[in-house]
Amino acid sequence: MEKELHARDKVGLQDFVLLEDYTNIDAFIDNLDRRFKEDLIYTYIGPVLVTVNPYKATGLYSEEVAQVYRNINFYEEPPHIFAVADTAYRTMLREHRDQCVLISGESGAGKTEASKQILQHIASTCVNHSTDVERVKDRLLQSNPILEAFGNAKTNRNDNSSRFGKYMDIEFDFKGAPTGGVIVNYLLEKSRLCQQAAGERNFHVFYQLLAGAGPETLEALELTANTETYFYLTQASEAQDNSRDDTADYSDLTAALDVCHFSADEQAELLQVVAAVLHLGNLGFIGDAAQATIKDFAPAVVVAKLLGCDDSELCNALTQRTISTFEEVSTPLTRDQAISARDALAKAIYERLFSWMVRRINTALVSADSETSHNVLGLLDVYGFEIFKYNSFEQFCINYCNEKLQQLFISLTLRSEQEEYLKEGIEWEPVTYFDNKIICELVESKPYGIIALLDEECLRPGDPTDASFLKKMSGILKRHPHFLSHETTDFQGRKTIRREEFRLVHYAGEVTYSVNGFLEKNSDLLFRDLKQVMASTKNSITSACFSLDELDSKKRPETVVTQFKGSLGALMEALLFKEPSYVRCIKPNDEKNPGVFMEEIVRHQVKYLGLMENLRVRRAGFAYRRPYDIFLRRYKSLCPATWPNYSGPAREGVQLLCDHLEYDSNNYKMGKTKIFIRFPRVLFTTEDKLQL
Ligand code: ATP
Ligand code: MG
Repeated sequence: MEKELHARDKVGLQDFVLLEDYTNIDAFIDNLDRRFKEDLIYTYIGPVLVTVNPYKATGLYSEEVAQVYRNINFYEEPPHIFAVADTAYRTMLREHRDQCVLISGESGAGKTEASKQILQHIASTCVNHSTDVERVKDRLLQSNPILEAFGNAKTNRNDNSSRFGKYMDIEFDFKGAPTGGVIVNYLLEKSRLCQQAAGERNFHVFYQLLAGAGPETLEALELTANTETYFYLTQASEAQDNSRDDTADYSDLTAALDVCHFSADEQAELLQVVAAVLHLGNLGFIGDAAQATIKDFAPAVVVAKLLGCDDSELCNALTQRTISTFEEVSTPLTRDQAISARDALAKAIYERLFSWMVRRINTALVSADSETSHNVLGLLDVYGFEIFKYNSFEQFCINYCNEKLQQLFISLTLRSEQEEYLKEGIEWEPVTYFDNKIICELVESKPYGIIALLDEECLRPGDPTDASFLKKMSGILKRHPHFLSHETTDFQGRKTIRREEFRLVHYAGEVTYSVNGFLEKNSDLLFRDLKQVMASTKNSITSACFSLDELDSKKRPETVVTQFKGSLGALMEALLFKEPSYVRCIKPNDEKNPGVFMEEIVRHQVKYLGLMENLRVRRAGFAYRRPYDIFLRRYKSLCPATWPNYSGPAREGVQLLCDHLEYDSNNYKMGKTKIFIRFPRVLFTTEDKLQL
């Protein structure tokens, strides 16, 4: 591990702000690469931590390392995730200010691992032997295996990919002991339940249950251990996964459920719901365009038994729908409609089950005494910007989320710069930056933003289609500088856009979205008959998930994107009052290989994470700043007036040093507690003198 703070040797720079050519992406990547080769996976951009996934055990997270980072000054030790965790935690305690750590990056870049390392570090740092505190810590830590079982899956990018966004507040008392927590989940990728891409799996929990639960449990759930038996588990060519130990994970899951205080009854009901989803998938239909009938009643009977509802009601609801205008009329479903009704039901059950799990975990995390909760530290683990070959509604939502986070990032970074200048009594120097507000507004403004137009089209009577939505949107937004479609000319003369596509110029780059499926995914319809059956179930989880209130309500349910916008808005508001830290995760290659640094893949991420812009904003003012005592301690040997014995105030000592080193007064400023240096070369020259 590197020893010195300002080291500029074969291990590169520990902080990108010291990069002389700070607008040069090649120099940026080269620095990452050199460090990565030395297993130095962490680098700062000022207070922002950039990490590169090593894809191997590194020994970076031992208790000895944790000890090094406890109670440190942020820049005193080499960059590390523990430094971020520790600093956020100490700042919260010292300044009584809520904190948050925002972790972003592509799938497989290491976000979830980073958030676990932060949680682990904090849990091991706040030593308090009260049983209450230990219980809270255990539950916070054990919420992970539960949510991962239900919300993570093996994908081609990541064997343990989170298929939902997660924000978690950890609550502390004024002494810094954790007292509770709250988890918020965002947009589970439920389409995975019924369909998986080649080589990918369904959510872990199904495989865990089949591999780990003993024959007795499986028998009670009428399951067999063979995953091949289940339609929902055989959608992809490669359902088996050797990278995970499902049996061991199942025991971890049940142990975690115990810790989070799920009663034996609850656990039994939980497994019944999971099993019911598998059986539901095996329900086939025969019939033609006119009317679907159920091929084999056995799975339906098992589902009804597991959930505690009437099997004929369930079968009816799966093959016909009641339309009530003036009077109730029953219409048969075609085979295709019945299949989508079945899948919609399975997805609704699973999605609601997941949200129920989160709520249920939250009840286990409620502070025993809300009075004692003094400050919070939030952890946000959400999917980074996604640009695939084929981008759909999901990528649209995810990228919108990243635009919002970028907006927050800019305003918070500028705010904290401004605050620091003010606190240090230094004149504010305005920074120019690209404000992505225009893109956020393109997506969310009313009545002509994309979301409003999409919702309007979803609710429009008549025969709205994806194509009619696209046509309307193109007509209205065609002059917008960040919107392109088939009808607008591609002003830069690049690849044209297909008829069913539109393109957005995001802050991080251009993304072309296919509009196919937007309306259906956004409306997310589930026939009322099915909701009614679910509300009548004896299984207390499904009946809680499908409440009668929902059926009685005359209001149309919110569309998916509007719900998402609402929850994002609430998140942004909550984050705005917190002091943020940032962790930007990068994956070095697409093959999950240790030691391989693929320049092109990294370049893509550096761009889409906005790291160059980040560095530019950071460098716009002063590249380097340090508290006087630390600066003096390092360089006092360079000046006869401060070496060897200087006992005056640190600020004056630093002034003596700067005078002696003949710093140009334009190149540095003296704040109340820190020295601010504009250009790295000033620092390097000083650093070089140390070596002489
Ligand atoms: P997704 O968006 O798909 O959820 P993610 O960013 O959360 O992806 P992780 O699940 O955190 O990615 O990491 C993927 C894998 O990479 C981990 O399972 C682990 O094997 C490896 N990994 C990530 N970070 C580290 C690390 N710091 N040290 C060692 N291995 C790591
Ligand atoms: Mg993850």
